[in-house]
Parts: sequence; C-alpha cells; structure tokens
Amino acid sequence: MSQFLSRRTFILIPTMTFLKFILKPKTVFASLINPQENWNLSKEEWQKKLTTEAFYILRQEGTERAFSSPLNNEKRNGVFHCAGCNLPLFSSNTKFDSGTGWPSFWDSIDGAVDTKVDFKLIVPRTEYHCSRCGGHQGHVFNDGPLPTGKRYCNNGLALKFLPS
Ligand SMILES: [Zn+2]
Repeated sequence: MSQFLSRRTFILIPTMTFLKFILKPKTVFASLINPQENWNLSKEEWQKKLTTEAFYILRQEGTERAFSSPLNNEKRNGVFHCAGCNLPLFSSNTKFDSGTGWPSFWDSIDGAVDTKVDFKLIVPRTEYHCSRCGGHQGHVFNDGPLPTGKRYCNNGLALKFLPS
C-alpha cells in the first residue's frame, strides 16, 4: 500500500506542475489576441473611452451579473455592435432566449469574432472577442439551437444595440 501511495505521489507531482503550467498562461493566450492596428489602444486610452463596467468586461474579461442587462430581453429587429469599436457582431435574427440571463445568439456575423481557449474555470472554455478591437464579449458553447448548435453567451455591457 505504501508503495502504491508513493507511486501515486510520484505521478501527482509532475501532474500538478503540468496543471500549474497550463492554468497559468492566461496572459499568454490573451497576448495572442491581435487587434487591428487602429484599435490597438493602450489600457489608459480604453479606460478613457469606456465606462468602468464596460472596461471590466471588454478589456479585463469580466462577466456581468446574470439577468442584469436590458439587452437580455431585447426582441426588436436590429444589429448588436461591439461596445468597444462599434463593429457589427450579431444580428437579431440569431438571438434566442437561452434562459441563462445573458444575451444569447446561435451565430455571429461572418468574421466578426475570434476565439481563444481560456482556463479561468479550470475546465477549458472557448472565449470569443471582437475581431477588430479584441474586446472580450463572452464564451461560446456547443449546446445551442439549430442550425449551428452554438450558443454565444454574451455580456450585454459589451454590446450596443441598433434597432433597424
Ligand atoms: Zn470591437
């Protein structure tokens, strides 16, 4: 038994080291986000441009409280734009009520968002952000409705809605 335990410990230590390594590189992944040149603003420039709440979501990958955004219940036709740079990200045609308390979409406008893997909750999740300014929008899951089966779970504070 003690031999078994020591073998387990032997395996555990390198595993922990590995986990520490994969849990750490949030900043490494974040640095892979490549905003377009005109939108490569400094932290201070973004702070001037955005409200405190929007800065926390868009630039620090924050998450707003569920059911806190009026956009959660927005049902008019129109387009949801990035609150950072105004790029159109989602059409109201792809919005659905996911019951999660965050504005949800089953597809994004072509080329509007890019993804990266994040390990914030240990289980890897797919983060997505505006392809133009790199602003964090939310996470995309594979439990959405047809035709895509995707669920883009978006922070309302990261979006601006323009009714058509
Ligand atoms: Zn943007």
